[in-house]
Amino acid sequence: MRPDILNPLFAETETLDGVGPKMARPLEKLGLTRVKDIAYHLPERFVTRRAIASLEDASEGEQVIVALTTTEHRAPYNPGRGPYRVMAQDEAGNICALTYFGRASYTAKKQLPVGEKRWVAGRLDRYGDTLQIVHPDHVEKDSAAHLARMNEPVYALSEGLTQPRLSGLVAQALEKLPDLPEWIEPGQFSKSDWPSWRDAIHLAHKDMHGPARDRLAYDELLANSLALLLVRADGRRRRGAALKGDGKLRDRLALPFEMTGAQKRSIAEIEGDLQQEAPMLRLLQGDVGSGKTVVALNAMLIAVEAGRQAALLAPTEILARQHFETLQAMAAPTGAEIALLTGRAKGREREGLLMGLMSGAIDILVGTHAIFQDSVAYKDLGLVVIDEQHRFGVAQRLSLAAKGKRAPHTLAMTATPIPRSLTLAQYGEMDVSRLDELPPGRQAIDTRVVAQDRIEDVVAGVERHLASGQQAYWVCPMVRDSEVDDIAAAEARYAALKERFGDDIVLVHGQLRPEVKDAAMERFASGAAKLLVATTVIEVGVDVPSATLMVIEQAERFGLAQLHQLRGRVGRGSEKSVCLLLRGSELSETGKKRLALMRETQDGFRIAEEDLELRGGGELLGTRQSGEAAFRIADLEQVQKLLPAAHADARLLIDRDGGLTSERGEAARVLLYLFERDWGVQLLRGG
Ligand code: ADP
Ligand code: MG
Repeated sequence: MRPDILNPLFAETETLDGVGPKMARPLEKLGLTRVKDIAYHLPERFVTRRAIASLEDASEGEQVIVALTTTEHRAPYNPGRGPYRVMAQDEAGNICALTYFGRASYTAKKQLPVGEKRWVAGRLDRYGDTLQIVHPDHVEKDSAAHLARMNEPVYALSEGLTQPRLSGLVAQALEKLPDLPEWIEPGQFSKSDWPSWRDAIHLAHKDMHGPARDRLAYDELLANSLALLLVRADGRRRRGAALKGDGKLRDRLALPFEMTGAQKRSIAEIEGDLQQEAPMLRLLQGDVGSGKTVVALNAMLIAVEAGRQAALLAPTEILARQHFETLQAMAAPTGAEIALLTGRAKGREREGLLMGLMSGAIDILVGTHAIFQDSVAYKDLGLVVIDEQHRFGVAQRLSLAAKGKRAPHTLAMTATPIPRSLTLAQYGEMDVSRLDELPPGRQAIDTRVVAQDRIEDVVAGVERHLASGQQAYWVCPMVRDSEVDDIAAAEARYAALKERFGDDIVLVHGQLRPEVKDAAMERFASGAAKLLVATTVIEVGVDVPSATLMVIEQAERFGLAQLHQLRGRVGRGSEKSVCLLLRGSELSETGKKRLALMRETQDGFRIAEEDLELRGGGELLGTRQSGEAAFRIADLEQVQKLLPAAHADARLLIDRDGGLTSERGEAARVLLYLFERDWGVQLLRGG
C-alpha cells in the first residue's frame, strides 16, 4: 500500500484549479496525470528577456519582448506540411515572422488578429532574409514589460497549453508538497550540501540550481538501484532449479551455418548459469544481426531437454510472429512443440493453447506480454527469454517473470548497444554476455547523408532499386509530440509513393489494426510487396534479408541508437545494401557530427559511446522519441556523475536492512513509491 503521506502527490491533475477534462488531455500528452508529475515537470531552461522598442535593437538569438502589429496570416501551401506564418511589424515598420508548426497555428489564429498590436515574447532568429520568432512563449494584449524579468522558467508544452497556464499549475502543485522523510544516507546528504526533497523541488523551478537538480536526480537513481537490487535479492532468495540439458535436442538442430565464436561463448555462459540453482539473470547484448535468436533457441532447448518449459517475450506482435516462424523452422528437426500466443488469440484457439501449456504439451511459448497474464498458467516454466529488453520497463518485466512456483531463469536480450558506463543504470547487476562478432559474410552498409530537398532524386533511386527486383524500406519520422501528425505524415508519404509505385507498396504504423499490419508485413516479407513505408514500428527485429535499401526521412530527429537499429534492417543478406539518411536544412553542428558518425561506422557499441560524448549532459537517457526514457529527471551527465554513489548507497542499505524496516528503510519505501518502483516493494512481502 502506498504510504498516506504521498496521497496529495498522487491526486489527479484534475484536482487542481482550472483543470477540467479539456486541459487534462494536453497534460496527459506530456505524461502529467498526477500532481506529482506536475511538480516534477522541471523547466527545460530559463530565459532572461529584454524589452525592446524596435527589432533593430536586438541581435539574433536574443530573448526579447516586443510590441508587434499583425499584418498577414500565411498558411502553408500544403496544409499540415510546413509551418504557419504570421507576418507582423514593430512600430518602426521592421518585419518579423511568427512561425508555428503543427496545430499550434490554431492558437496563432486566435491570438494574433490582423491589424492589432500584441506583446510578443520569444527568441529572435533569422530565417533566410526575415527575422522570425518560432512558437513565441507569450502573446499578450496588454503591456507585458513585466515579462522582462530574470529567469522565467520555460516548460515543455503540448498543444493546448501555454507557459503561463503551466506555470500556474506548477505553483499550485508546489503548494501541495508534503514534507517527506529523508531517504538519502546522512553522510552523502551533508557532504553534497543538498536541500531537503521539498526545498529541492521548489528550487529546481526557480533557477538551474545545481545541487537541487542533482539531489532530485540522485533520488531517481537511488530508487532505480534499490528496485533493481530488490529484484536481484528476491531472485537469490527464491530457489530455482538447475536445468541440465543432455544435448539430445540441440544435437538435432540442423543449422544452415556455423555458429560464431561469440555465439558459442554466450551459449556456454548461459548453460553454465542454467546448471546453478540460483535463477540466472543474464543480459545478452548483441548488435542487430549478430544472431541472438539462435542463442535464445539453444537456451530454450536446454530447458526443454531438462523437461521444463520456456517462454519468449517479444515487444510487438510483428516480432512475436516472426520469432515464432523462425524458431519453428529452425527447431523442426528437434520435435520441440512451439506455440504462439498474442493478445489476439481468442476463443477456442486460446483455450487450446492454455490447455497445452498447462498439460506440458507445449514446450516453448512465444508471444507478447499476453504470455504473462494471470490466466496463463504453465506446467513448469523453467526459462524466460525477453527480447528487446529496453522496450519494457526493465526490471519490472524481470519481476513479472518471477511468478512461477520455482523462479524461472531469465535471459534478457537487447540490440541497443549501451555504453558500458550506463549498463548498470539500465540493467542493474545483471551478468552480461556480448555478441561482439557479426556472422561472416556480412557486407558493410553503404550509408549516405542526403539533403531532404533532393527527395525527387531519392524516389528515382528507389524506383531503379525496385526495378532491379530488390526491396526497400522507407521510414517516416516521429515528428512532433503528436502521434496523429506523424501517422498523417506517413500516410501522406505512402499516398505519394503509391502513385508512383502502384500496388507494390505497403504501409505499416502503430495505429493500424494488427491484422492489417500483419497482412502488410507478410506481403513484404514474402516479396509480394517491394516497398514498405513505416513509422518506427519496424525498428526492432524485423528480418527480411532481400530488402537492401533503407531510406530514413529527417534522420536528424532520431536518436543514434534508433538510427543504428533501423539501418540494421538492411545488410542482412549477401547483397550490397544502402542506407540513405535524409536530413532537413536546419542541422546543428552536433546534428551534423552525429549523422557523420553513422556514415563512418557500423559498430553499435562505438556509436553508443560516441553519441554519449556528442550529446553530453542535458539530454535524457534513452530515446525520448520512442517514449522510453529510462529516467525522467536524471540526465546523462548526472547518471554518470551520481550513479556510482547512488548504487553503492542502495547496496549498503539493502545489505543492512534488506526488509526496509528501519527508519531509513521506511523512508526508502516512500521513495520507491514516489518513483513508482513499488514493484520493488511488493517483492518484500514474501521475504
Ligand atoms: P539479431 O536478433 O541479433 O538481430 P538474428 O538472430 O535475427 O539477429 O540473426 C540475423 C540473421 O543472421 C538471421 O537470418 C540468422 O539466421 C543469421 N545468422 C545467425 N547466426 C549466424 C551465423 N553464425 N552465421 C551465419 N548467419 C547467421
Ligand atoms: Mg532479434
